[in-house]
Amino acid sequence: MIEALTITQKRKDKEKRMMKKENCLFCKIANGEIPSHTLYEDEYFRAILDVNPATKGHTLLLSKDHFQDLFDLDRRIEKKILPLAKVLGEYLKQSLDCNGIHLVQNNGKAAGQTVFHFHMHLIPRYEGDEEMITWNPKPVDEEELADVLKKIKEVKNIGQEPRR
Ligand code: 5GP
Ligand code: ZN
Repeated sequence: MIEALTITQKRKDKEKRMMKKENCLFCKIANGEIPSHTLYEDEYFRAILDVNPATKGHTLLLSKDHFQDLFDLDRRIEKKILPLAKVLGEYLKQSLDCNGIHLVQNNGKAAGQTVFHFHMHLIPRYEGDEEMITWNPKPVDEEELADVLKKIKEVKNIGQEPRR
């Protein structure tokens, strides 16, 4: 019974993704319908060069299936993404001789996401480059820190694996 439900749910999720896929630029790029400068591809992912790079070698790691953002990802992709980003980062470091790499992953419009298909940026950094990926640190008092921590901890099951 539980298994049947899981299969039905999986089919529904797949249908949902297929529907979204029709109008999604990154679905088309990830699945090869639109050409891209691909530096890596496997069954689940495609890594491409960003057409408006922040720095030389700015790479986007796209899932082939459609997920809106990190919070929409399925478990299988979640487990693979960081190890793959690490391998690709090594690849960029060796080939481009960069001095550092940002992993940037925007979730939601407020966080700067402009393409609503899951992707991770790998942005090589070079000593003295002019790129700015930063924020303005502001002082905060103890009361505010305690208050925000209390709010976060009020969420049930925090620190536990999400159940799927
Ligand atoms: P976001 O702001 O959603 O985190 O990042 C979207 C990224 O996709 C941007 O860095 C943008 O330059 C890149 N981008 C948008 N359209 C295309 C495209 O058609 N091809 C490639 N390779 N990159 C794209
Ligand atoms: Zn998509």
